[in-house]
Amino acid sequence: MAETVKTRIEELVGDEARVIDGDFERELYSMDIGEVPFAKRLFDTTPELVIMPKSVDALKKIVRFANDEKAALFPRGSASSGLGGVVPTVKGIVLDLSSMNKIVELNSEKETVKVQTGVRWSDLEDFLCPETLSLRAYPSSFFSSVGGWIATGGYGIGSYRFGHLKDQIESIDVMFPSGEVKAIESKEKEFARFFGTEGQFGIVLSAVLKLRKTPEKALPHLIYLESAEDAFVFITGLINAELKPNHIKYMDVSHLEEINTFLGEDLFRLKDAVLVEFEEEEEATKFCEFAEGRGILADDYLSNYLWHERLFPMKKRGNMPTPLACEMVIPIANAVSYLKAAEIFLKRCGVDVEVESHIVGKDHALLMLTYMSDVREPRTYLTHMSLIPVLTRLGLKFGGVPYGIGIWNTPFINDKYDTKTLELYRAYKKEVDPHNILNPNKFFAVKTKMANIPGIMFKPRIFRPLIRISATVIPILGKLASPKGDHKEESVLEKIVYSCIKCGSCAAVCPAYLVTNEESVTPKNKLYLAKKLLAGDAISKIDSDKIFLCTHCEMCRAVCQNDLDLVTAWTELEKLLESEFGAPEEAIRDFVSTMESSEDYWRFVYNAQKI
Ligand SMILES: Cc1cc2nc3c(=O)[nH]c(=O)nc-3n(C[C@H](O)[C@H](O)[C@H](O)COP(=O)(O)OP(=O)(O)OC[C@H]3O[C@@H](n4cnc5c(N)ncnc54)[C@H](O)[C@@H]3O)c2cc1C
Ligand code: SF4
Ligand code: SF4
Repeated sequence: MAETVKTRIEELVGDEARVIDGDFERELYSMDIGEVPFAKRLFDTTPELVIMPKSVDALKKIVRFANDEKAALFPRGSASSGLGGVVPTVKGIVLDLSSMNKIVELNSEKETVKVQTGVRWSDLEDFLCPETLSLRAYPSSFFSSVGGWIATGGYGIGSYRFGHLKDQIESIDVMFPSGEVKAIESKEKEFARFFGTEGQFGIVLSAVLKLRKTPEKALPHLIYLESAEDAFVFITGLINAELKPNHIKYMDVSHLEEINTFLGEDLFRLKDAVLVEFEEEEEATKFCEFAEGRGILADDYLSNYLWHERLFPMKKRGNMPTPLACEMVIPIANAVSYLKAAEIFLKRCGVDVEVESHIVGKDHALLMLTYMSDVREPRTYLTHMSLIPVLTRLGLKFGGVPYGIGIWNTPFINDKYDTKTLELYRAYKKEVDPHNILNPNKFFAVKTKMANIPGIMFKPRIFRPLIRISATVIPILGKLASPKGDHKEESVLEKIVYSCIKCGSCAAVCPAYLVTNEESVTPKNKLYLAKKLLAGDAISKIDSDKIFLCTHCEMCRAVCQNDLDLVTAWTELEKLLESEFGAPEEAIRDFVSTMESSEDYWRFVYNAQKI
């Protein structure tokens, strides 16, 4: 079937889209940052085809084709979300939207920019820089796509001052499954439906974003406090004092302890802390007066370091490789009670947690509870994974709602939306996507393989009693399942393959990816191939050859979220592959000459020199 579909799509779109059907390349599109070992058993996670449309016209032809054929479509930005939102659930087509990344129109006077939604936030900010204009709020995954953030969270850096992403957008263009394209203004009631609904209703093609003048200064201040309780009292006081911070972030003591471990120095005090960023001197001065006597202000260089680190929130913590997290939006007034209850529960399970929170308005905090596990130890990992829904359920008791839904939070959809909204959304889905081709079998309800027997467990009525039972059993299992940690790792490559969190930060700066547009040359996917190679899985020569398309420029190393020694790993990986398949001299020559003649590459080199 894939072969005929491929031929028909190629006939429809010609050069206006890339159609990818290689086995390994399709496999790269079967996952997001979440490590869920059993996903493949529940769903057909590997798409039949991956299509990268380059124009709205091509996308329209593909979407219409899929609608006529009732073929599932899975829109994908940078795949930096972790709840299965981009993961295929049935045989179908992944729409890689990364080539729909044009900056359509800048209106300097009005301070707005219209962009296609495949554009990354980091590229957009680079474009705006010479115009002395800047983004308002942005996610700490600066490398993710505008469309991905519209479709998922919408809270991040600067949300305290500027609010949710939908408050920063004037209008969007959406393509419905019928292929119809509609411009929707922020004042229309349909507008809000596309935020946080994870591509269920349509593909967001472009957005007009509100901007602002580039601030002259960033004035971050870190203040140490004695406990989470003191920190949230401080935050509430700060909010009531009506100062104008751009961003407020809470970090618990474990977070600062991990940073000390990472830096190899005891630079930060072992206390809870709040990072507050201002842009006006006067406001920052008022803040220092406010903070006086309430806590201890850290040295400026430490505050500045943490402000820079806002774009690297997932640096490796502890000695286990796999992070697991629970994210909730919760009333500020209840945050501490929730954290205390969560800590008691996690302690009983033998798990050390680390907490960070963006304050996303006067009343709400986006809490992220992270702990480390090891995907190489299945029993431990599964036990640790099952803590996430227990923590989510606990958060509901304190008025929290899950941040994202994807596949894995589907049992909590009734908690994220009230009955009226959910009814409206279900009816709208039926109206705009009657064949259920967009991101099916997730978000509203999970449907799995095996006559959907495992899927039944995801129904809220069944899932909740299961969670209640797990909450009593997991503490016993958790203690028994502590990881053995006896993994032998000789080379740098062996040491780092499991530490890659697949965030994709590196792909945003990789010149090899820029000129080839191939997922398999991105650092995260080279590490995925290395993982397979080290596990003794078969690798084809075609896939091996792609690994050599690399300039060893070290850009990936510079932005790696986990500070992995990537270039040393590339040298080792190339040696391993060369001994098995030989080096692809001709492909390397072609790659170098493509690079030399690529305008994008030279623009990239020019921009990289400015950093
Ligand atoms: C290091 C790190 C930091 C992060 N920080 C934040 C943060 O500060 N705030 C936050 O909210 N999240 C954060 N995240 C999570 C994630 O990066 C964001 O949700 C991000 O906005 C997703 O963008 P993406 O391009 O990767 O989307 P993807 O993961 O590719 O897609 C996410 C969902 O959106 C759908 N989708 C994608 N593009 C479109 C489109 N054009 N039209 C319709 N549907 C579409 C997909 O089908 C999927 O359901 C972070 C993740 C990491 C790894
Ligand atoms: S070293 Fe290789 S993989 Fe890393 S950014 Fe440069 S070209 Fe890409
Ligand atoms: S190599 Fe580093 S930056 Fe790239 S996906 Fe892995 S952890 Fe993220």
